[in-house]
Amino acid sequence: MIFDVAIVGSGPAGASCAAFCAVAGHRTLILERETFPREKVCGDCLNPACTPILERLGVAARVQTLPHGRLSRVEFVAIGGHTVGVDLPPDAEIAVKRSLFDQVLMKRAAEAGAVVRQGATVDALVPPALTRDSWKITAGAESFEARVLVAADGRNSTVARLLRLLPRIARERVALQTHLPLPSGFGARVVLQLLPEGYSGQAPVGDNELNLCLVGKPSSMPLLRDWAETSFGVARDHHWRIITPLRRASLPPARRRLFLIGDAARVVEPFTGEGIYYALRSGELAAEAIASLLATGDDDEAARSYAAAHDELYRGRLWVNRIARAAVLSPRITSLLLRASVLHPALLRVLTAKLTKL
Ligand SMILES: Cc1cc2nc3c(=O)[nH]c(=O)nc-3n(C[C@H](O)[C@H](O)[C@H](O)COP(=O)(O)OP(=O)(O)OC[C@H]3O[C@@H](n4cnc5c(N)ncnc54)[C@H](O)[C@@H]3O)c2cc1C
Repeated sequence: MIFDVAIVGSGPAGASCAAFCAVAGHRTLILERETFPREKVCGDCLNPACTPILERLGVAARVQTLPHGRLSRVEFVAIGGHTVGVDLPPDAEIAVKRSLFDQVLMKRAAEAGAVVRQGATVDALVPPALTRDSWKITAGAESFEARVLVAADGRNSTVARLLRLLPRIARERVALQTHLPLPSGFGARVVLQLLPEGYSGQAPVGDNELNLCLVGKPSSMPLLRDWAETSFGVARDHHWRIITPLRRASLPPARRRLFLIGDAARVVEPFTGEGIYYALRSGELAAEAIASLLATGDDDEAARSYAAAHDELYRGRLWVNRIARAAVLSPRITSLLLRASVLHPALLRVLTAKLTKL
C-alpha cells in the first residue's frame, strides 16, 4: 500500500501531525525508533499555549488525568542563591513526564487510524522521481511508500541528515536530565537556576518525582554533576539521559512533498519551555498543508503555505528566545543583574507572560 503521508518520529510534533492527518482521512504511517513508553531529555513543562491544540486533538482532558505537577510560580535563582519569583496564574502550567504525555499523543494518532510502527529506525530514503510518484522509506529490513514525508525526528533529524539538509554542528552545549524523588517541601514551582558552569531546571512532575535538568558545555558536566550530587543527593554513578546540541541553525521547513516539523525544523532554548508548543502547533500546520496538497496536487503551493505559516508561528517570539539564550550563556552577568534588581520581577513577569501567552 502507498500511504498518503509517512511521519518519521512520534514526539509531540509527529504524533500531533499524524493524528490530524488521520482524522482528516489520510492513510497515515508513523515510524518511531523507540518503543513507548520512553522518557526524553526535556524539562517536562507544558506551556498553557499547548492546551487549545490538545483540545483540538481531543486529548486535553486525558492529559489532565495523567500524574502531573501544577506549577504556580517560576523562580529565577542567581549564582549564590539570590531568588526572584514570578507567580503564574492558577492552572496555567503543568509538568508531565514525557513517557506519559507522548504515549497519550501516539495513542490518539493510532485511534484516529494512523498505522504506528515502533522500534522502526528510518535509515534510508529515496525521494519521489519521474519514474515513481512516492517516497521510499526504509527502516531496517522493512520499506514503505508514501506520497508525502514528514520529518518529526527531533533536533538530530535523520531525515534531514539523509537528505543532506542537516547543518554541521559545532561543538555545542549538552543537556543531562533525570527524574528524582521529590525533595520534601519543594512546592508547586519551576526553578531556573543559574550556575557558574551553566544552568539547571527543576520541576515537580507529580506528588513524588522531580524533573532535574543540567545544561552546560561538555567540559562543565563533571562540575554540574557534582553540584547535583551535593544539592539533590544524586548518586555518583546515576544514569542521566543526555542530548546535544542545544542550538543549531534552523532549516527551511518545507520542500516538495517534504515537511519538517518540531525540533527537526527549528530548535529553541530549553530555558523558555516552549519546544513542545512549537512541536504540536507545527504538526498541526503541516497537517493542514498536507490536506491541501493531497486535495489539489499542488506541491509547491502546499510547501509555500506551510513555510509561511511556520515563519509566522515563530515571528514575534524569537526575541524572548534570544534574551533567554543570552542570559544562560552568561550566567555570571545574569546573576549580577538579578541581584542588582536590574532584572526586576516586573520585567521577568513580562517575559514569563510572553512565554506562557497569558
Ligand atoms: C534540557 C531540555 C529541556 C527542555 N524542557 C522543555 C520544557 O520544559 N518544555 C517544553 O515545551 N520543551 C522543552 N524542551 C524542548 C522539547 O523537549 C522539544 O522541543 C520537543 O521534544 C520537540 O518535539 P519533537 O516532536 O519535535 O521531537 P522529539 O520530542 O525529539 O521527538 C522525536 C522522535 O523521533 C524519534 N526518532 C529520531 N530519529 C528517528 C529515526 N531515525 N527513525 C524513527 N524515529 C526517530 C525519536 O525517538 C523521538 O521519539 C527541552 C529541551 C531540552 C534539551
